[in-house]
Amino acid sequence: MTRMLIIGPPGSGKGTQAERISERLGVVAISTGDIFRANVKGETPLGIEAKKYMDNGDFVPDSVTNKMVRDRLSESDVENGFLLDGYPRTTAQVEYLDQILAEREEKLDVVLQLTADDEELVKRLLGRAKETGRSDDNEAVIRHRLDLYHEQTEAVVAKYAERGILTQVDGIGGIDEVTDRVLLAIEAAKAV
Ligand code: AMP
Repeated sequence: MTRMLIIGPPGSGKGTQAERISERLGVVAISTGDIFRANVKGETPLGIEAKKYMDNGDFVPDSVTNKMVRDRLSESDVENGFLLDGYPRTTAQVEYLDQILAEREEKLDVVLQLTADDEELVKRLLGRAKETGRSDDNEAVIRHRLDLYHEQTEAVVAKYAERGILTQVDGIGGIDEVTDRVLLAIEAAKAV
């Protein structure tokens, strides 16, 4: 049973690594970005609301995001644990997640942060923009998303560091190399 978070700046490869960790540990990976994108594609009311923020690189409001996460965590496939990718991103979301977990008498085992230098991330994201045509992958929006990460999500990381459950992994390198580092770091953190 593993309950964990993966946190990293945009372009750090957290989605890719989350899928690999999920396969290896047999826990479901839940990406708030993916859920939003699926809703945008399906033109659901949630998607229409979220798109306004996503296209500008802004966070979708906590009220919308928190409810979506609560609903997702109430599904039966999280009984064996979960890996949340891209949530929480604000300290208010940390408090909300604390509340959900407290109600279920559960706690997080590991919070993994992937680290990478901003200029490397911009380079990667501009490359990804060409390949995928993601509407939030142009340079101004990319820089804004990085700024938000520094302004808001680093405070989230600091909170988990204070709690002693943060593990940091260098996200620069080949995908397999980073996966090896990540899996080792998770095992080491769980063994504590
Ligand atoms: P991601 O794929 O994780 O980079 O997320 C893509 C976009 O979805 C972000 O830039 C936000 O607009 C939105 N998003 C994803 N997760 C969250 C969250 N926890 N809080 C607010 N907005 C989010």
